[in-house]
Amino acid sequence: MNIDIFISELYSVPIRMLARSVVITGSNRGLGLEFVKQLTKSAKPPKVLITACRSPDEAQELKDVAAKNSNVHILKLDVTDETSYSNFTGQVKEIVGDNGLNLLINNAGIAPKSTRINMVKWNQMTDTFVTNTVAPLMLTKNLLPLLRSAAEKVVESDHLSASRAAVINMSSILGSIENNDAGGLYPYRASKAALNAVTKSMSFDFQRYNILVLSMHPGWVQTDMGGKTAPITPSQSVEAMINTLFQCANQHNGAFLQYDGQLLSW
Ligand code: NDP
Repeated sequence: MNIDIFISELYSVPIRMLARSVVITGSNRGLGLEFVKQLTKSAKPPKVLITACRSPDEAQELKDVAAKNSNVHILKLDVTDETSYSNFTGQVKEIVGDNGLNLLINNAGIAPKSTRINMVKWNQMTDTFVTNTVAPLMLTKNLLPLLRSAAEKVVESDHLSASRAAVINMSSILGSIENNDAGGLYPYRASKAALNAVTKSMSFDFQRYNILVLSMHPGWVQTDMGGKTAPITPSQSVEAMINTLFQCANQHNGAFLQYDGQLLSW
């Protein structure tokens, strides 16, 4: 597909509405927290914004946002703790009710340091794979009934959108095999390449339920992970991602998109 056409196609459509309910993992700092801030400030904020993080007691900035916005719910979730998924899903179900869950943003991720060929460790590979690849897949599997409920609220239409029901897997250009021109970063690159494979399979499997699935590269962003020298701010990245994702429709299902809507190669 021609990349330029893909971008102009996205930006020519005005955003109609945001999602009624959203779950974001890793929402206590970085891009996750920025998503929470921007969604609460948007013209049509979600009725329910479920922000998941490992240590809610220590998530002061997130607690400050929740104190000012009654639609923000903070739930404890370590995405690597599969035993907690059913309890987490039950809590989400109680909050969203019969309306189901419209949007799941699998944002939590790790990027271990010192992973050149002479340094990389077995446990860096396995830990990164668990957090960045296994967790988004298995958490989505657990929340799928709630996503299906939301999708079913729209009757007799196969239209896909992030307002109806969607899964966004926060990927990275470093997971692109075609774009790898520098080597190294074995755990991170492999985990995000595998996450992209998860996205593609989900996009086929969930199409019958009218659930949109995307891999998104946020750009190189100034967060703890991206570092201070990154060229774009969390605010710029998240604003563009929200704009992009709420303009996606059937033709974007299963795509690997950059924050600004550019189609990336696998
Ligand atoms: P940060 O390192 O700033 O934040 C990572 C977030 O993930 C934190 O909230 C962290 O929580 C959470 N997290 C990590 N492990 C777990 C876990 N086991 N359970 C629950 N939460 C967890 O990263 P960014 O905000 O920059 O990155 C967000 C996503 O964007 C990631 O998936 C990353 O790979 C991706 N990305 C980022 C880029 C960048 O330049 N910043 C570029 C490309 C992709 P805690 O505070 O508890 O550790």
